[in-house]
Amino acid sequence: MNRARGLLAALAATALLAGCTSGSDATITPKTVKYTEPPLPAQAVTIPTDAPVAPERDALCGDPTASLRPTGAGASAHGPTIDAIRARGRLVVGLDTGSNLFSFRDPVSGSIVGFDADIAREVARDLFGSPDQIEYRSLGSAERETALQNHSVDLVAKTMTINCDRRQRVTFSTVYLQSYQRVLAVKNSGIRTLADLAGKRVCIVSGTTSLDQMRRSQPAATILTVPTWADCLVVLQQRQVDAVSTDDAVLAGLATQDSSYTELVGPSISSEPYGIGIPKGNDDLVRFVNGTLERIRNDGTWVRLYQQYLTTLGPVPAPPAATYQD
Ligand code: GLU
Repeated sequence: MNRARGLLAALAATALLAGCTSGSDATITPKTVKYTEPPLPAQAVTIPTDAPVAPERDALCGDPTASLRPTGAGASAHGPTIDAIRARGRLVVGLDTGSNLFSFRDPVSGSIVGFDADIAREVARDLFGSPDQIEYRSLGSAERETALQNHSVDLVAKTMTINCDRRQRVTFSTVYLQSYQRVLAVKNSGIRTLADLAGKRVCIVSGTTSLDQMRRSQPAATILTVPTWADCLVVLQQRQVDAVSTDDAVLAGLATQDSSYTELVGPSISSEPYGIGIPKGNDDLVRFVNGTLERIRNDGTWVRLYQQYLTTLGPVPAPPAATYQD
């Protein structure tokens, strides 16, 4: 107690002295504000600019978006994979549970909704007669292929680009959404084109086409990889990076979560056609899913879902046309 009183007295004396010396000739030193740097998200990794980058492989397989012709969707369709899913009683779908517009938890109902989630529900509707016979497994972008390869999900509905490289390991449905890689930056940042990203820090999720594309097209950017696109929005807001780059559709979801602070900039960097990912060998399921996609392109469901979730991208386009390999 006595020590505390002594300390207070000493502090008061110092304050008095400070007051005495603050005459007109006193030098005013600007205060440096100190604050704790916010931590980076778990598993954030900075990629050295000289690390090797995967070459573009899309010339190697013809048209990677050509898929298997549907044999019809609905109760009459049979095959080893779809019969096993029906016997189990639910469709197991891998997706990102925190992807605004595509697959996110509706704050009121608590259910997972969004363009991807609702398309998966249409597959469940055709399989079971009910869209609710579905179970979601949360996946990061880098986990999509493995989840399909080890059959821990029946399909992946997660803004997944169809390309030749991925088709070596998994199968895809026909295209259900056409998107384009672009850049998200803080408003008035001065970043407008890819050239402006030289020497800047860009956040990209690992295991994505966006990462390889950016490393090829702007090798002078320093890239921070994180597990989810929501992590990228946070590090942009915390000014730990200058920009985020991925598909316009995914960026539009982030931009609507922070519309007063962020904006999409610059032209498209690449074409990113989305397909439903399916394990290799499950051709009956590929044809079944393509049947559902054919139905929703024709019965107005696709347009309704676009209107419900994606009009922030612009007016509703026509659904992407299907291309078949057989
Ligand atoms: N479409 C890109 C990809 O498939 C990025 C989207 C995502 O990570 O979900 O890798």
